[in-house]
Amino acid sequence: MDYKKFLNDVAKNRQPLVLRELFALQQSAPKDVVFLSAGAPNPDTFPIKSGTITLHDGTAIQLAGDKMVQCLQYGPTPGYPPLLQQLGLLTATLHSPPRWQESDVLVTTGSQQGLQMALEMLLTPGQTVVIEEPCYSGVLSVISPYSPRYLRVSSDGEGIIPESLSAALDSCTPDNKPKAASVPQFLYTVPTGANPTGVVTSEARRRHIYRLCCQHDLLILEDDPYYFLHYHDKPPPASYLRLDVEGRVLRFDSFSKVVCAGLRVGWVTGPRQLISKLNLHKGTAVISTSSMPQVIISELLRVWGREGFNQHVSLLRQSYKHRRDAMLDAANKHLKGICEWHVPEAGMFLWLKVLGVNDTWDMVLRRGVLAKVVLVPGHAFMTDPTRPCPYLRASFSTADATLIEQGMRNLAELIEREVELQGNKAAGHRTRNTMLREADTKAALTTKH
Ligand code: PMP
Repeated sequence: MDYKKFLNDVAKNRQPLVLRELFALQQSAPKDVVFLSAGAPNPDTFPIKSGTITLHDGTAIQLAGDKMVQCLQYGPTPGYPPLLQQLGLLTATLHSPPRWQESDVLVTTGSQQGLQMALEMLLTPGQTVVIEEPCYSGVLSVISPYSPRYLRVSSDGEGIIPESLSAALDSCTPDNKPKAASVPQFLYTVPTGANPTGVVTSEARRRHIYRLCCQHDLLILEDDPYYFLHYHDKPPPASYLRLDVEGRVLRFDSFSKVVCAGLRVGWVTGPRQLISKLNLHKGTAVISTSSMPQVIISELLRVWGREGFNQHVSLLRQSYKHRRDAMLDAANKHLKGICEWHVPEAGMFLWLKVLGVNDTWDMVLRRGVLAKVVLVPGHAFMTDPTRPCPYLRASFSTADATLIEQGMRNLAELIEREVELQGNKAAGHRTRNTMLREADTKAALTTKH
């Protein structure tokens, strides 16, 4: 595939960084080569000597000697080599990508950095962007400053509706509109436990969507941080990376939800040519990802082995499923008739449509704290956050069952008061309008006589 056509001018102009190339050479050269090239600080001057990371089961990971030096020193831009190898193995095992030989992996500071770099490699101001709405706000905040023309695609409880995607793409093919400034370059999607809806895109839909992206020559940005957090017993649907026979998928993974968020370790997998552009961007932005978090994750994966990792994931899913069910119970008890929702099959969120409230912004942000409950107003996930929005995102990731129950009860009271308030306002408005109409009629009648 010719990837150049997807890149903006900035990405095309990125050139390899000599210092980073020399750093990579130093890692692989024979030991008797004297390198006077590196600007790395002298490890003898580092004040930290050793440390121990203790897991909940008592397992201790010792960081000392060379390992500690690796924690404290600059690292290769693509990532800490043992971690890169482990990530490659994990990705190959989980997704069996058909084009694995032409693919590469890049470690990132959380998946957010990967997304930001990928979008900034592709976007040009005013470009047409096809987007599933509602959409993860962290991606909208990268795209929106480019003042794009958003083509909104609808989704339901099974994910993006392919017919809606197809109609949106047909509406902007060069044949239909030869003068159109641009056609979409990529589809961004969160296939497992979308943020904010919690929806898992079915495999049938993924296959259909992948075909459409091939027909319309789109890259797919597959953002899948909730991949491990699905709550059904069936095996997860094939990822887009798994379906990618043409080399058009960039997949973003993260340890944030599956290990912890503060270490800020994620990774991108995709076609070598695109990953190498991201690598150049990353070298410019941060030189290398913080080394200590990479070493810690790598050591953790090593001591767990595949079995330990699977056990951890299984406990994690049980724990979040329990909270998800607690939130559904509380919603059924307190929100029936005043809200609508789908059961989230994965992820951390319940997406609520509030009935009888046209706009949730003031309700949450002005009156939420007083009512002792705060959620995210749906506007945060919309391409135009200035439009009224009746949705809310409730998170079940951190509160326990008691707090979830309390929060949902408080929310029900908040909504009931809001419906009343908005009803009164509307009634007041009607009264004022009626009075104005009456005054107009009177004036008209007076003029006639
Ligand atoms: N994508 C989605 C859909 C998310 O919900 C998040 C975190 N909220 C991210 C990406 C970024 O995650 P991180 O940078 O912590 O990996």
